[in-house]
Amino acid sequence: MASSSTPPPESDPNSSLHLHAELLPNIRQLTLYISVPANTPSTDLTITLSESRRSISVSLNPDNDPITMKLPAHVHPTSHHILHLTPTTLPQTQPRATQGEYSFRMPVDVNTPITNNHNDLDSLDGYIPWTATDMSSATRLRCLKCESEVLGEGKVWKDLPSGNWAEMMDFWHCHKPDPPKGENNGNGDGEEMNAVKGYGAANQVVATPGTVLVDVVGFLVAGRDCLGIPNTNTDTTHPDANADKIHCTTCTTQLGIHDPIANGHRLYKTRLAASSPSSPSPTSSSSPEVSPTTTTIWSHHPPETVISAQLLELIDRESTRRFILHSDNKSGLLIWIFTPTLTYSNASATHQISAQRAMKVFYQILSDEKEIQRMLDAEVGKVGVVAVEEVRLLGEEVDGFQRVLEKSRSLLPVEAREWRGWRVGLVGRFERNISITT
Ligand SMILES: [Zn+2]
Ligand SMILES: [Zn+2]
Repeated sequence: MASSSTPPPESDPNSSLHLHAELLPNIRQLTLYISVPANTPSTDLTITLSESRRSISVSLNPDNDPITMKLPAHVHPTSHHILHLTPTTLPQTQPRATQGEYSFRMPVDVNTPITNNHNDLDSLDGYIPWTATDMSSATRLRCLKCESEVLGEGKVWKDLPSGNWAEMMDFWHCHKPDPPKGENNGNGDGEEMNAVKGYGAANQVVATPGTVLVDVVGFLVAGRDCLGIPNTNTDTTHPDANADKIHCTTCTTQLGIHDPIANGHRLYKTRLAASSPSSPSPTSSSSPEVSPTTTTIWSHHPPETVISAQLLELIDRESTRRFILHSDNKSGLLIWIFTPTLTYSNASATHQISAQRAMKVFYQILSDEKEIQRMLDAEVGKVGVVAVEEVRLLGEEVDGFQRVLEKSRSLLPVEAREWRGWRVGLVGRFERNISITT
């Protein structure tokens, strides 16, 4: 996302002009929205499609520079006709014209391959940031907030087999404080613990020194491999809710949780930066920053990108698209992933977003503890009850996800910000550059 620094003067009518385009790859259709002040006559609109049919220019006053936006894809030649309906006939085909909202549906050019237009969910690797292939023996990890080193180089990175992800994800989003253990049974009963954690006896994953096991949202590492993390609370006679949390010794940010079953630390991707010896690929959504003293490049992924990957994995596995994101049951978000994959562009006189991959998310802000509990306890299968999956996150991650939704919502055309009681937002998702093989 790039934005110019100087807003246009108030006298420029184009300062009230806002463009938004969404491409739904599965139906190869692009919708362009043009937002103007209410009751703007269509005769004031000048719409120009570029020769390549990949960008659009719109002006409210031909004397001013138009707003130009790169479209998510090349559109079909018939789009010229769709956009250039004679202005006098435009109001009849535009029911929201008096509200200042014009929209045009255009087919995507038949010769334009849409990257990854097969079902994205077929390739888990495609949307997950930081898989083992992104890491090397030279990769180090550090605390995102204070830059203290958390993991040194020389590790072997392995993706957990996807068959183990179900267990891993259950751990991540259903993890609760360990049950109290008796003094005479300090190590806990293995089978009992497995049942508590939802682990099967088979396929049990255990942390191994020197190896980092990678799943959708984090890394499983042996405790002795971690730097700058104090020993976890080993006073099993006085277990408390915070006993499993792992904090950075320098800045006290929570970096993960201790997993006694896997005998290791689970570190959150959202709280870490990783080093790489060369530049990250340009398709990566990471934010590179070059350290001034070395050639090491540190990068991280925005928390919402990691959360998006977690949600996409859950959609694939649980066959539900509705989730409650929360950290403490008291407040949270009810979300409905309405469209897992779309590409959008958005432009005004002051900002430009070009061909960004995103999920369309319907959401409701929850602040009633009883309401949240009622939804989590709802009996699936009853008439009118829709399956809702619980996703426990750190509080700051829930708040950040909500801020991303609210900000993206404010960029949408007014008519697209609400749908039957749901708010509508867009959340960026990670997209690996996958070559088309079919
Ligand atoms: Zn635990
Ligand atoms: Zn720190």
